[in-house]
Amino acid sequence: MSKQATPVKKNDTMQLSFEDLTHDGAGVAKLDGYPIFVPRALPGEEGQVKIVKVKKNFAIGRLVELTDESENREEPPCPIFKRCGGCQLQHLSYEGQLEYKQKHVKDVLARIGGLPDVPVHATLGMADPWRYRNKAQVPVGERGGHIVAGFYAERSHEIVDMPNCVIQHEENDKVVQLVKKLAVKYGIRGYDEEKHRGTLRHIVTRHGKNSGELMVVLVTRGKELPNKKNLVQDIREELPNVTSIVQNINPKRTNVIFGEKTEVLWGEEVIYDTIGDIRFAISARSFYQVNPTQTKVLYDQALAYANLSGNETVIDAYCGIGTISLFLAQKAKKVLGVEIVPEAITDAKKNAEINGFTNTEFVVGEAEKVMPWWYAQGVRPEVIVVDPPRKGCDEALLEAIINMKPKRVVYVSCNPATLARDLKYLSEHGYEAKEVQPVDMFPQTTHCEAVAKIELV
Ligand code: SAH
Repeated sequence: MSKQATPVKKNDTMQLSFEDLTHDGAGVAKLDGYPIFVPRALPGEEGQVKIVKVKKNFAIGRLVELTDESENREEPPCPIFKRCGGCQLQHLSYEGQLEYKQKHVKDVLARIGGLPDVPVHATLGMADPWRYRNKAQVPVGERGGHIVAGFYAERSHEIVDMPNCVIQHEENDKVVQLVKKLAVKYGIRGYDEEKHRGTLRHIVTRHGKNSGELMVVLVTRGKELPNKKNLVQDIREELPNVTSIVQNINPKRTNVIFGEKTEVLWGEEVIYDTIGDIRFAISARSFYQVNPTQTKVLYDQALAYANLSGNETVIDAYCGIGTISLFLAQKAKKVLGVEIVPEAITDAKKNAEINGFTNTEFVVGEAEKVMPWWYAQGVRPEVIVVDPPRKGCDEALLEAIINMKPKRVVYVSCNPATLARDLKYLSEHGYEAKEVQPVDMFPQTTHCEAVAKIELV
């Protein structure tokens, strides 16, 4: 069989017009229907492109020169924007980003979900879309005898040193710089991934936006941490709002950040933060939304779609530390939460208690196993909320929803593609997606969060 000819060859240079953006933020140009993806080009722009990779169904190009700029183009404020994988859209105006996310959700619902008619509202954005992240997890290594802490260069595990990050809360930047300085002072070696040597693997820090509290997590290869006492003393002196300093031990050769063991070096095991009127305890390894301002917007939307009167039993699947559960519990008769990380369920139970809720129950387990079990026990909720990780809901979980026949399902999604897939399944089994509200939890990035309101027909 002869290889089908592609309209471009590697190293060709050509003038292209861009008409769209991919889900990962690259500009899309087409030659006779054949797509060419070019990072950091925007719809409406034209430019000289050099082809760097050719595949049967698409090619990848590099922007050599922009000849016609979009009015939506902006100067990225971050000097390392092009090299760091963290943000993809700093060159696009914030208005443009919000429109892109709405369009992306709409396109995917049509293409993957076969649901072109579901209304997708304008993305709810932030007044100030910078310095919003409450959590940093920064890999640490060494180069030329110096400690480096930053991010992995594109397609590699080489750590590029990073002085600050424009989407991170300033407090998190401060922690990273301080720990780096103290590692040098106390002779703590950075981790060498290749040789599996050295001590400090990651600096993880979490800031409670509303409480002001700060947690510092030092992820180490072994139990040993030289000069532990002095290190803790210095952190406390330099950052008076630190309330928790913990060490997490990860002895494995792995990309996973955390190990199984966490030890408190000073202060509490958790930090506290509030969302609305509810106070939450958060452990190092528990999931907690990274954009506290938008979390309130997201949960308010989920609660509005749940439309509770006070008599309902509600399930919150993938409940984390019980954040959505407790929002719901304010307006429901009973809330059942399920989550796979044991520490998160410990936090959830504590959170119900410190806020005086007596109508919640939390279970550790895989939601796709616990939900069918609840069904077998006769649990019949009126409303089910799901907030799965990027891979979406397991089919066994969707099946349990269909069997339980709740009147409403609220689907909180951090990945429009799996949301669309799961909505397709639900709409083939007696449910209808009524509307979808994108909420911008991750400004400057292509990550896209959305809440869907689904009803039994
Ligand atoms: N609703 C929570 C958490 C959402 S993130 C919040 O808004 O904070 C998704 C959560 O699902 C994480 O806490 C993760 O640990 C959990 N998780 C991942 N896979 C799971 C599974 N198979 N069963 C139950 N929980 C799971």
